[in-house]
Amino acid sequence: MNKALVRLMAGFRRFREKYFQDSLENSFYRRLSSIGQNPRTLMIGCSDSRVDPAILTDAAPGELFVIRNVANLVPPRESTAGGFHGTSSAIEFAVVNLKVENIIILGHRQCGGIRALMSGDTKTSDSYVSQWMQIAEKAREHVLCEHGDADNETQCRFAEMESLKLSLQNLQTFPFVREAIQTRQMNVIGVYFDLEEGQLWEYDEPSGEFRQLEL
Ligand SMILES: [Zn+2]
Repeated sequence: MNKALVRLMAGFRRFREKYFQDSLENSFYRRLSSIGQNPRTLMIGCSDSRVDPAILTDAAPGELFVIRNVANLVPPRESTAGGFHGTSSAIEFAVVNLKVENIIILGHRQCGGIRALMSGDTKTSDSYVSQWMQIAEKAREHVLCEHGDADNETQCRFAEMESLKLSLQNLQTFPFVREAIQTRQMNVIGVYFDLEEGQLWEYDEPSGEFRQLEL
C-alpha cells in the first residue's frame, strides 16, 4: 500500500478513537452529524503545511469553517458571471448560510506566495500562482515604496502584513459581508502568525499597525 496512505490511516485511527469513542450513538461525531455544522468562525488561511488553522488553534471538529489558498488572500468582489470563484463562494456560504460571527484572516511569516509576489515574477509569468498573487500587487508596491532599502526577508515580512490589510479591505467589497457587520456585528479580524518566534500578532485598524498578542 502507498506509504502516505498508510501514514494517514494511522492518524485516522487515532482520530477515530478520539471522536467516535463510546457507543456510536453518543459519539462526538454522531452529535455533529445529526445536528449539522454550526461553526462560529470562518478562518481564511494559507495552504502552507505549517499553518493549519485547526491545529494552530487546537480547534475541535465543527468549530471552524476554513478557507485555505495561496497566501491567504481575499480577492475583491467580482461578477458571478464568468470565472470560478472558490474563495468568494466559500466566504458567501460562511456569511450568508452559516451566519458566522467572526471572520479571521490568518497571515504568516515565510509565506511562499508572498515571496513569489516580491520577486516580481508575478507580472511576467503565466502560472496560476502569479495570476492569483496579483490580488496583492498593491502590497508589493507599498512595501517597495516604504521599505525599498530593506533586505528581501524584511520586505517579505512587511508584504505579508500589507497583503493581510488588503484582504481585510477586499472583504468589505462583498455586500453580504458589509451587511453582516452592520446588522449583526460580525467581527472581522486580521492575525499574523510568526512561525519563527511562535507568536501571534493582531492587526489594529485604528493605528494601522500589528501588535503582539499576550499569550
Ligand atoms: Zn503562505
